[in-house]
Amino acid sequence: MRDAEWVMVLTGAGVSRESGIPTFRDAQEGLWADFDPQKLATVEGYLADPALVWSWYDMRRLKVGQAQPNPGHYALVALEKEVPHFFLVTQNIDGLHRRAGSQNVVELHGNIARHKCFDGGHAPQQELPYGLTEPPQCQQCGSMIRPDVVWFGEALPTRELRVAFAAAEKCEVALVVGTSALVQPAAALPLIAKERGAMLIEVNPDETDLTEFSDIYLPGKSGDVLPQLIDTLKVL
Ligand code: NAD
Repeated sequence: MRDAEWVMVLTGAGVSRESGIPTFRDAQEGLWADFDPQKLATVEGYLADPALVWSWYDMRRLKVGQAQPNPGHYALVALEKEVPHFFLVTQNIDGLHRRAGSQNVVELHGNIARHKCFDGGHAPQQELPYGLTEPPQCQQCGSMIRPDVVWFGEALPTRELRVAFAAAEKCEVALVVGTSALVQPAAALPLIAKERGAMLIEVNPDETDLTEFSDIYLPGKSGDVLPQLIDTLKVL
C-alpha cells in the first residue's frame, strides 16, 4: 500500500454503520423488517404506491442527513492524500464519503439526497423539502419525481460502472471495506482486481465470501481498523 500508485477502495453499508446508519442486514431485522423490498425499492413498487415509497425514502433521507461521517470515512480521506491515483467506489447511497472530504468518489448505487424524474431523468432545480406526502412532479416534463438511487432490477449508471471497472483492472491494491460482497456487479470488482494482480485487503468484523480470496483480512470495525491502517502507513 505504501508504494502503490493505484488504489481502489470498495465500500459497503458497514462503513457507515458507526455513523448510525443500519446495514442492509441490520435493516432486514429492523428498518426493512416490516416492509417488502419489492414494494419499496423497485419501479413497480413505486408506481403501485408512490406515497408510501416516497415517505419511506423521505424518512431515510432525513436520517442520513442527520448522520455524521465516522473515523472510517475520515481515514479514507487521509488515504486519498497519500495515493497518486485513488478511486473510492461505494455502494452506499448516503453521501458520507463526500461529506467527510473524499474527492474521487464513484457512487455505484446513486445518492439518496438526489432526485430525478421518471421520464426524462431531470433533476429538480432545488433541494426538495422533507415531509411531502406525495412525490412532486417534474417542472420540466410533468412526470413523477423519484429518489436518484438504483432500485432492484435497474441498471447501474454507465459512467460510474465504467470508472469502477477501470479502477479494478488498474489498481495495485484493492481495499474492500464493510461489504457483504453479495450484490453484483460491485462484488465482482475485488475479484477482477485480484485476477489482474492486485493485493486484496478486506476490512470487516465478519468473514464474507471474499475473505478466502483476500491476501490480508483485517477483522474489525472500519472505524477502528482504517485509522490504524493509515497511521501505520504514515510511519512506514
Ligand atoms: P450489507 O448490509 O449486505 O453488508 C454489510 C457488511 O458490513 C457486512 O459484511 C457486515 O459484516 C459489515 N459490517 C458491519 N459493521 C461493520 C463495521 N462497523 N465496519 C466494517 N464492516 C462492518 O451491505 P452491502 O454489502 O453494502 O450491500 C447492501 C446494499 O444495500 C448495497 O447495495 C447498498 O447500496 C445498500 N445499502 C446502503 C446503505 C448506505 O448507504 N449506508 C445502507 C444499507 C444498505
